[in-house]
Amino acid sequence: MSTIQIVIVEDEPDILEVIRYTLKREGFDVATAMDGKQGLRLIQDTSPDLVLLDIMLPGIDGLEICRRLRAEPSCENIPIIMVSAKGEESDVVLGLGLGADDYITKPFSPRELLARARAVLRRGAAGQTQVRNTNITVDRLDIDIKKFTAFVDGEKITLTATEFRLLHFLASNRGRVFTRDQLLGHVLGNDAMVIDRNIDVHIRAIRKKLGSDQQYIETIRGVGYRFKDHN
Ligand code: CA
Repeated sequence: MSTIQIVIVEDEPDILEVIRYTLKREGFDVATAMDGKQGLRLIQDTSPDLVLLDIMLPGIDGLEICRRLRAEPSCENIPIIMVSAKGEESDVVLGLGLGADDYITKPFSPRELLARARAVLRRGAAGQTQVRNTNITVDRLDIDIKKFTAFVDGEKITLTATEFRLLHFLASNRGRVFTRDQLLGHVLGNDAMVIDRNIDVHIRAIRKKLGSDQQYIETIRGVGYRFKDHN
């Protein structure tokens, strides 16, 4: 089995060292760069399995790197986790919109870093969202794709078509954060459905209908929503 290669682009030496040490200790093969230009070249040259990408970088910033990688056929599928500082939520929203897979906010624990890295590696090729065609069961919640219906403890929950699509999409991509724009894009699909474009309204309605199980959908402050990850 070949070693998993990870590139870290981070200009703060202390944070770079913590990430590098944490990942190396787990047996990952790690390469680093401290500015945007170098980082971009390193990623293009090595096509790693995962990139940890700081947002504020000298030279080319993390968002621009993300944009450029997603525009290159040879790099478009490389998974990217953005490393953001507190208060950079609007940049995180932009980054997710550009195709980054996840983000982690400084300061973070080695454990949190590894959990996010493993989750993204497990999901595989970047930017790929899936819509599962099989039924989804999470604890007491069952989502039945053929019946277009959800059940809690076997009891039917009546959802609108939009609510069902939203719940099913989120549950198909457990642990992955989506911005409101991404969710809207998904529920709109190609049909010219007339729906309320305020995603929060639909999420609120789903939570209300799921009752005590509303904690399945997590609010990620300033960014969007995610269906709770596997424990
Ligand atoms: Ca920085």
